[in-house]
Amino acid sequence: MMYKDTPVIVTQKGEVEGQRMVPKAELPHVDAAAYYGDASRPGKAPLPNLAEITVLRHYTNLSLKNYGVENGTYPLGSCTMKYNPKINEDAASLTGFAQTHPLQPDSTIQGNLELLWDLEKQLSFICGMDRFTFQPAAGAHGEMTGLLLIKAYHEKRGDTDRNVMIVPDSAHGTNPASAMMVGYKVREVKSNERGMVDLAALKAAIGDGKDIAGLMLTNPSTLGIFDENVIEITKMVHEAGGLNYYDGANLNAIMMQVRPGDMGFDVVHLNVHKTFSTPHGGGGPGAGPVGLKNILAPFLPVPFVEKQDDQFRLVHETEDTIGKVRGFIGSFGIFVRTYAYILANGQDGLKAVSEGAVANSTYMFEKLKNDYKVPTSTKTMHEFIITSEVLKSKYGVNTMDVAKRLIDYGFHPPTVYFPLIVPEAMMVEPTETETREDLDQLIDAFKKIAEEAATEPDLVKGAPHNTPIARPNETQAARNPVLKA
Ligand SMILES: *Cc1c(COP(=O)(O)O)cnc(C)c1O
Repeated sequence: MMYKDTPVIVTQKGEVEGQRMVPKAELPHVDAAAYYGDASRPGKAPLPNLAEITVLRHYTNLSLKNYGVENGTYPLGSCTMKYNPKINEDAASLTGFAQTHPLQPDSTIQGNLELLWDLEKQLSFICGMDRFTFQPAAGAHGEMTGLLLIKAYHEKRGDTDRNVMIVPDSAHGTNPASAMMVGYKVREVKSNERGMVDLAALKAAIGDGKDIAGLMLTNPSTLGIFDENVIEITKMVHEAGGLNYYDGANLNAIMMQVRPGDMGFDVVHLNVHKTFSTPHGGGGPGAGPVGLKNILAPFLPVPFVEKQDDQFRLVHETEDTIGKVRGFIGSFGIFVRTYAYILANGQDGLKAVSEGAVANSTYMFEKLKNDYKVPTSTKTMHEFIITSEVLKSKYGVNTMDVAKRLIDYGFHPPTVYFPLIVPEAMMVEPTETETREDLDQLIDAFKKIAEEAATEPDLVKGAPHNTPIARPNETQAARNPVLKA
């Protein structure tokens, strides 16, 4: 019974020589009333009293109910849900990038400013532009910024009657919305039977050209089609005195193949959270940097980075700037990821990205075009449209049913009922980061669903069968989400 004689060493009083008392676990008392005065809370905060592990399990389980690109294929057309390489995250979390404050003096953030300066040059090279602003927070925000630049350009020249923005009907929905936001009237131009801008309709829309501020082109369009008349289109708008805006959210289809600047565009926005693999979804942060030709450079938003005698500095004021469209320089951490992605891929890698995006999409399209109806026979780029029109008229199975049934097969559905110009549309964008095996599994699921529609339509119409929620009212679920059972 050795332990009987073991001396007692735990003491409430203090330290025994050679030992150190374990301190009592007490948080320092803060007298909130004295500190915050009237602003302090009268009673205890009504917080649930839960064990740490209970909270952790709750959030971990919630996160597993979500579906992301790290769970499986996510072919949401127009959204480019590609894999975000982890090396981007490593770069962005380096202390020198992650721990800087936007109000630090320029002399203490030379590396950060150099990164932006160099990224501006590289994005300009990729797009054939002269300058870039990093301020806009997303694609649509970039559109608004680009249109404000066009507006400032016309106003500076005293050309104030130009109040019309031409937008083809195959544009992304944000294009007409952005034109309205900056006070332009939207004039729509119809697509021809090949899914491209109808040149005769464009000519009619331009008219005598006196009221034309410019044109916004989503290229490739929401049909996934690259407009073969793009040079002719931009020329017609320039001849009328308007400027050309390129919606470059789909740059992943053309990166390092052709450049908006060479196709006659004066301003372009990119979605780095699509093409350049920065994080995406859940409302941000993303970034929609805007590239512009020198004629628009005087209106560049501030601040921007300038290099002088080997020193980098932020320029906060210029005579004709449109001002700020956002706080500070933009989503800096996102641009570290963009830069890492560009450097990791290099020129050839970026070219391979656009080739891969188009190859994967074309492969899927060729495998599915006989199982679903297709709106045009024109060759598509990084995404394509198939429709459930035939399944609907023959078996009463519509696009929503097909999309819901894909969930049963373990996939995120494609974009549905968009573009609006195609009935029962499904817009499929596989992206270049999916493997051949992944694509084949998704193709199989689409084919099986087309078969089921014919043999067991109720199975498809009742889908999904294994999710906590099956078919919420989509509008209500977005406007008034019920987040607890
Ligand atoms: C995604 C997208 C946009 C809008 O970008 P956000 O970052 O979501 O604002 C605009 N145009 C096209 C063609 C797009 O695909």
